[in-house]
Amino acid sequence: MIPFNKPYMTGDELYYIKDAVLRGKISGNGYYTQKCHNFFKEVIGFRNCLLTSSCTDALEMAGILIDIKPGDEVIMPSYTFVSTANAFVLRGAKIVFADSYSDNPNIDANLIEGLITSKTKAIVVVHYAGVACDMDTIMDIANNHKLFVIEDAAQAIDSYYKGRPLGTIGHLGTFSFHETKNIISGEGGMLVINDERFDKRAEIIWEKGTNRSAFFRGEVDKYSWVDVGSSFLPSDVTAAFLFAQLENLKKIQSRRKTLWNQYYEGLKKLENEGLFELPSIPAYASCNGHLFYILCKHVEERSRLITHLKENGVYAVFHYVSLHKSPFYELENDNLELDNCEMFSERLLRLPLYYELHMEDQNKIINLVISFFDEK
Ligand SMILES: *Cc1c(COP(=O)(O)O)cnc(C)c1O
Repeated sequence: MIPFNKPYMTGDELYYIKDAVLRGKISGNGYYTQKCHNFFKEVIGFRNCLLTSSCTDALEMAGILIDIKPGDEVIMPSYTFVSTANAFVLRGAKIVFADSYSDNPNIDANLIEGLITSKTKAIVVVHYAGVACDMDTIMDIANNHKLFVIEDAAQAIDSYYKGRPLGTIGHLGTFSFHETKNIISGEGGMLVINDERFDKRAEIIWEKGTNRSAFFRGEVDKYSWVDVGSSFLPSDVTAAFLFAQLENLKKIQSRRKTLWNQYYEGLKKLENEGLFELPSIPAYASCNGHLFYILCKHVEERSRLITHLKENGVYAVFHYVSLHKSPFYELENDNLELDNCEMFSERLLRLPLYYELHMEDQNKIINLVISFFDEK
């Protein structure tokens, strides 16, 4: 079988993990955590960042940092992963879901203003497939209404909006290094802090609500409980793994983008014949080769294509089940309808895309898709 995903190991992970172990300090905020932070600041240009155990953790930190209180409203797309919403629900927020564009699963920026009330505190955007949301429009709305913007950039490493790295445009940005993402550490994530007002408190929340980091820098003479917080920081073993990946960022990205382009070129002819749709990337956005999808005509056709691929040794998957249609949300909310979002939930099919996907396997996948539509 050709799997849907295969985590790529660069070969240097065990070397750095061994080094972390030999250094004798493997808890959080150690040698490799610092090396990763420095990499992100120097190579990608993040102003300030903190590794976390997951993107879910980074989103939860964002919820604490912007002081979400019960009753606050947070606007976000429904077409996303549960963590985008859960992080704010945990703090008592009411989630207000917005629809996607008709030709792009990202939040339709033109719908946001109509959802703002006196209780709205933040807009959380998700750069689906690593493709940027319309950030200028979204930041203008947020500034006019004094709202926070959090970028769920879980899928968006090495991707850009008008040349600016995603995760650096909103007040806070969150990344994932889960093994399904481009750069991985098994489980892992990062909070990027773009607004300096959050610098000090972010570090305290990260260190379980203590000023431990300031204490070790000699800035305070006691190490005490000063705020709420949790254990958001990953072990230095995880950071050592991540560092091996970061050193290979260019190589990994170049391969993934090549694979993405080969899918696109290989399937373009069928799109031109109107058999399905391929991803459309707005002029302001870049492609980081995170995931490749096609849009089938309807859910029934998608199911048949998944079966056709599986019978021929290829795993392909769909997502997301829109959050506004999920059992947890529907318990308390009546029939919200978000047409575009539901359309993507029914029609979007993801094809295997991973660093070690061989050319002949990718050609096999492309030919299977072509043969499926040719037989019709
Ligand atoms: C993967 C993902 C997450 C969760 O990341 P974890 O690191 O697994 O917590 C959140 N949001 C989006 C959009 C994702 O794709």
